[in-house]
Amino acid sequence: MLDVIIPTFNEEDNIEPLYKELSTTLKNIKYNLIFIDDGSTDKSLSKLIKIYKKDTNRIKIISFTRNFGKDAAIYAGLKEAHGKYISIIDSDLQQHPKHILEMVEFLEKNEDYDEVAMVNSYCNDSFIQKKFKKTFYKLMTKLTHYNFEVGASDFRTIRNYVAKTLIDLKETNRFTKGLFAWTGFNVKFMKYTPDKRLHGKSKFNFRKQINYAIDGILNFSTSPMKIALYLGSTLSTCSFIYLIYLIIKTLVLGKDVPGFASLMSVILLLGGVILTMLGLIGEYVSRIYMETKQRPIYVSKVKFGFDDDIL
Ligand code: UDP
Ligand code: MG
Repeated sequence: MLDVIIPTFNEEDNIEPLYKELSTTLKNIKYNLIFIDDGSTDKSLSKLIKIYKKDTNRIKIISFTRNFGKDAAIYAGLKEAHGKYISIIDSDLQQHPKHILEMVEFLEKNEDYDEVAMVNSYCNDSFIQKKFKKTFYKLMTKLTHYNFEVGASDFRTIRNYVAKTLIDLKETNRFTKGLFAWTGFNVKFMKYTPDKRLHGKSKFNFRKQINYAIDGILNFSTSPMKIALYLGSTLSTCSFIYLIYLIIKTLVLGKDVPGFASLMSVILLLGGVILTMLGLIGEYVSRIYMETKQRPIYVSKVKFGFDDDIL
């Protein structure tokens, strides 16, 4: 049995084509489709209910009260998925369902692998985006020492126990790619070329991608805080040596040391460094603050296809 988790946010025109594609591709295996409506404000939910009415045995829907983000949607799906294999796929048909079959087939044949992750060839991205993403994943691997494969996406198929492990990680601010890497399971990376989005626009603009990258680094590494330590100690050592030099120079030559401009630039530089580091520490503290509230990762309003449907 295969459970397919499909995070969906404002994808009204993609739902029916995706459903058709999934039904034809997966027709020879036993599967469930778990759609997570992540607080869509368009007609996505009514489109989902329409396909649910046609295929009640296979389709499940969880609808959030508002937009909680793709990572929360994946978490909700993982909680409801109980199949032997669990796949995660986007709802915009950029990721062709045929790859799900390839992943399942691989896991069937290779008992020693726990999951398969599709690796994006980035061929639809601009040169700058490509460079940015590659550098980010390499940096993440360096900082965390977990394996962040360049281009590995959330388009994956995992075994049931991998899903259970992910659900046990209760953090509210979820960077799913990092959680996958953290678990350390044996992953087979398979290359694929994403298609063009069928309808609508990507929900992750450049600003969101930058925030996502910052989230990833801060959620999985405390190394940035060490920068303050290294920088602080280097600057202190340099200024101490400079101080000794000035004292000796004044004592020997008896000269005043001029230099209002250099003094100002050093003060401003240090002020900037201190404020940046304070901001960085603030980011970590605010994350601790948010996590201590232990709020649920999502709130669902309507469910279809479950024993405890809220209608
Ligand atoms: N998505 C979601 N919640 C969000 C943003 C996106 O569930 O807040 C879903 C979206 O509907 C799609 C998938 O996540 O199925 C990937 O989003 P998108 O295609 O916009 O991202 P991209 O492919 O550009 O990285
Ligand atoms: Mg997409």
